[in-house]
Amino acid sequence: MSLATSNPLLQPWNTPHGLPPFEQIRAEHFEPAFDAALKQQRAEIDAIGANPEPATFDNTVAALDRSGRLLDRVGELFHNLTSSETSPALQAAQRRVAPLLAAHDSAIHMHKALFERIDTLHERREQLGLTPEQKRVLERFHFDFLRAGAKLGPAEQTRYAQIMERLAELTTRFGQNVLADESAFQLVLRDEADAAGLPDFVRAAARQAASERGIEDAMVITLSRSHIVPFLTFSERRDLREQAYRAWVSRGEHAGEHDNRPIAREILRLRNEQARLHGCASYADYALTDTMAGRQSAVTGLLAQVWEPAKARAAEEREALQALALSRGDTATLEAWDWRYYAEKVRQVRYELDEATVKPYFALHRMVEAAFDCAYRLFGLRFVEQPQIKAYHADVKVYAVHDTARADGESLIGIFLHDNFARTTKRSGAWMSSLRSQSRNVGAGVTPVILNNNNFAKGAPGQPTLLSFDDANTLFHEFGHGLHGLLSNVTYERLSGTSVLRDFVELPSQLFEHWLAETEVLKRHARHYLTDEPIPDALVEKLKAARLFNQGFETVRYTASALVDMAAHALTDANVPDVAEFERAELARIGAPDDVGMNHRLTHFQHLFSGSAYAAGYYVYLWAEVLDADGYEAFVEAGNPFDAAVAARLRRFIYSSGNSIEPSEAYRAFRGRAPTVEPMLKGRGLTRASFDTSGLVGSQPERI
Ligand SMILES: [Zn+2]
Repeated sequence: MSLATSNPLLQPWNTPHGLPPFEQIRAEHFEPAFDAALKQQRAEIDAIGANPEPATFDNTVAALDRSGRLLDRVGELFHNLTSSETSPALQAAQRRVAPLLAAHDSAIHMHKALFERIDTLHERREQLGLTPEQKRVLERFHFDFLRAGAKLGPAEQTRYAQIMERLAELTTRFGQNVLADESAFQLVLRDEADAAGLPDFVRAAARQAASERGIEDAMVITLSRSHIVPFLTFSERRDLREQAYRAWVSRGEHAGEHDNRPIAREILRLRNEQARLHGCASYADYALTDTMAGRQSAVTGLLAQVWEPAKARAAEEREALQALALSRGDTATLEAWDWRYYAEKVRQVRYELDEATVKPYFALHRMVEAAFDCAYRLFGLRFVEQPQIKAYHADVKVYAVHDTARADGESLIGIFLHDNFARTTKRSGAWMSSLRSQSRNVGAGVTPVILNNNNFAKGAPGQPTLLSFDDANTLFHEFGHGLHGLLSNVTYERLSGTSVLRDFVELPSQLFEHWLAETEVLKRHARHYLTDEPIPDALVEKLKAARLFNQGFETVRYTASALVDMAAHALTDANVPDVAEFERAELARIGAPDDVGMNHRLTHFQHLFSGSAYAAGYYVYLWAEVLDADGYEAFVEAGNPFDAAVAARLRRFIYSSGNSIEPSEAYRAFRGRAPTVEPMLKGRGLTRASFDTSGLVGSQPERI
């Protein structure tokens, strides 16, 4: 049989909804498929460039947008499998394929004939009689080409392409190294003494992890966030907390073959060179040209508004933790592995709220229903499970997504895959991705296939998976990204769904978190997994009262990571220091408290170094929080979290418009005005107006 007929990646997928025939696909299919797909797109691009007709929007821009369908299909599947269900064979293929994809990308963006046509159209864009979306996609493509080096001289282009290939290798290696360190670590708890303090749900998850690893009669704590955070929160064993914490924060920082220090350093050096080729002093300057923020001072200005108040808040929290530790006779200096443990004790005392009481109301399946129900009440979407469709892992659920709000009758708008559990073949964190993006530029139009990945610790066999309120929030966050992909309603794939500026991309996700915190939503969906009783009012009140608790700690951890990211990418000298040294010096310079730590240290900061999407961009969560906090106020002002008119504007201008509208314009169209920063500060408890003084130790922060 020829390759084309034996390789399922190169054949039509006559499957339900055109999903990949997962069970037929093996790791060795990918490299030949990439080879064919790269050739195919290269031929498409050459044909556009060689077209003897003068450049028109359709024969150049729309044609470019239509090109590379096979590469999209193969590449998106590959990306999803290497993230969620990888193997040594897939990882090896990933290391070989990453530089080829980077070289291909450079070849397209440095294609002289193609760029000349786009450049000509761009110059004449006002005279072409384009629709606003057509003009936008032309401008975006033109900008993509400039940012990828289309206007550089031949020698610079050669060097630029080399840099991009090497960066692709390094960022692939970086992510694989983090996964290697995460998979290698396990804290085995052999007896009751090892497990002291752990509530049932932590034990159940740890037993499940042990059985998945073939360890009998023991419990295992992994470095998955949904293991490590509860362990640090509840374990009475300070020695084990320290051991687990040190393993968690030293991912990527072990000498040997998985050491990310030299890799991160080389990435920073090459990014600096990349920026210089563009005439920018630093990578941060280069990266920020394609954002709402636009320049470093806008970012550092926003981060500065929260940094000192957050540290002051954390200092007060520390006093409360120390006071509680002392009252228990613990006199040791508070360390980073103690913070969550004492914070939970203070939380229990102050709010009579403990995780073990909360979690039974947050069963995973209930929270999935809650997210679907909110999508129905806001946008008329109905999620119908398709148990007959098997995805790439038995735990992945497949849903058909129907739009019931259309005037012309209910219709299928996309497919949603929900992959919720941690496993050793999946990278850590939570994310949204796609197998297919929405567009109308090909055939009868393309419906999206959207995925959400979480890393929840799976409940024991026969038992539901119970989430913390934070986990449920993550579920809603990723689902908000998912809706951004599913509700996309644009013509050109380049503008589809989440292909927005990166400081806008967290708006749909963070905004969606607000519905989880609505009392009405909690009363309807947060039901005890054994009794089906809705969450008691008193518990809802406690959850709300505790919302600002420990926010100093959380804000310091986030902001420290964002500041270090910006500082590392703002280096103007190609002579990059050792990243661990640099991080230490930077944390000292900004006065970051040791016992709080960072969300991500540089040696495992996948946002920055597994790909470049969030490089000089970890700030985007806070940027988007300004938008989401202000945006949700529109529902508060309407007096109804599901107000139909506000929801309709939200769908049209935020969730459906992709990148077809300039983001500040899209926001103003939704909100009727530009955003203000106050709701974000209030939401984090960083303004005097919202400052909760009940039971807090110490002085109040200064007004900011
Ligand atoms: Zn997100």
